[in-house]
Amino acid sequence: MPFDHLGLSAEILHAVADEGYELPTPVQEEAIPVVLAGRDLLAAAQTGTGKTAAFVLPILQLLTPLANTSFSPARHPVRALVVTPTRELAMQVAQSVKTYGRHVPLRSAVVYGGVPVDPQAKETRAGVEILVATPGRLLDLVGQRAVNLTQVSILVLDEADRMLDMGFIPDIRRIVELLPAGRQSLLFSATFNDDVRSLAGNFLRDPVTVEVARRNTAVETVRQMLYPVDRERKTDLLAHLIRTRGWRQVLVFTRTKIMASRLARDLDRVGIAAVPIHSDRTQSERTRALADFKAGEIEVLVATDVASRGLDIEELPVVVNYELPLVAEDYLHRIGRTARAGLDGDAVSLACIDEVDLLRAIQRMLKRAIPWQVEPGFVPDRNVEPRPISGRSSPGAAIRDARETRAREGAPRRGGVRPRPTGAGERRPTGR
Ligand code: AMP
Repeated sequence: MPFDHLGLSAEILHAVADEGYELPTPVQEEAIPVVLAGRDLLAAAQTGTGKTAAFVLPILQLLTPLANTSFSPARHPVRALVVTPTRELAMQVAQSVKTYGRHVPLRSAVVYGGVPVDPQAKETRAGVEILVATPGRLLDLVGQRAVNLTQVSILVLDEADRMLDMGFIPDIRRIVELLPAGRQSLLFSATFNDDVRSLAGNFLRDPVTVEVARRNTAVETVRQMLYPVDRERKTDLLAHLIRTRGWRQVLVFTRTKIMASRLARDLDRVGIAAVPIHSDRTQSERTRALADFKAGEIEVLVATDVASRGLDIEELPVVVNYELPLVAEDYLHRIGRTARAGLDGDAVSLACIDEVDLLRAIQRMLKRAIPWQVEPGFVPDRNVEPRPISGRSSPGAAIRDARETRAREGAPRRGGVRPRPTGAGERRPTGR
């Protein structure tokens, strides 16, 4: 179905054409008419499916009649609120709002932690119709009376499964309490598990469900390949694959921040330009690393799972799991970074003997085996004994550790809505 059959206005179609999009993606085709009709929406769509445009385009259209050129902040109340789990995703969604809203005179802003609050407060005080925010910083700004949410007519919860994982639900509840009851709510999630459904039960009214990828199914166009390799030889194998396969832009995942830094350093030493991106790095370091990567100045970005949320790098050709994730669903999130919007992509995993249980869990989730091959020159030594992961005695303990770390890295501060001193969010690692 062409874009102009979805009920979108000329201004919005104009912006879509500017982007060179010819046809709507499946989630856009299904979600856009539902949102335009004013219904609540529960959408299962992974990053890379075009989900951002699926909510941004109809929101722009619904709000266009309210656009005005008044200088009074009171004439520009927040009418659409998009909440995302991470700063990177918030920035990307905000960029999409600007891009798709190019021909519509609506104001938008993005607020997230890790940077001084004052410039954001100034911008929101001046009045914006569309606000994209991470939960903690949004609550800070509400506490400072720099944001008022009483006129929000559309709420979007993006990557809701991530928000659950990162412990943001108490903050979300607080935010939702500040919104008018009669609003329209849209919830997007990469996966539909019972927690997401119960969240939807709390926040949505009689939603239309749109499910474009089957439950826990890897993006179909990703070619998956696994290389068994000894644990000490993973870096050599990665460097070898980068060189022999001619990879230019590689996103590599590790389980820990320490490993991300160490691997980036080791790759750099053998002449492969690599930078780590994780929550211990400042926001400007992360933004810079991403920009350099997109510009092709660095070949390899080494990321942890938390840091990777929302990274949008167009046409990313290769994702490498240098270490398999402790939580099987993270495998899907990771490989969802390639083959975006229907393009082909490769997801390559390097697995050593220690990771057999993790591999089994991933394959159980995928309901199929990942194809594998041994790279000549990197045949694993059959006599190597497996070692527990993370130095813990059991995989279960290591997985609990991982969940705790993740919750900590993205954990919201407890307590009610209250002002916070300027710049206090700067030390917050993610999403603040
Ligand atoms: P998202 O899933 O929202 O992160 O979008 C993934 C990528 O798909 C983004 O880089 C968009 O620019 C691109 N995209 C979104 N909609 C379309 C479309 N209809 N046709 C082609 N590309 C699209």
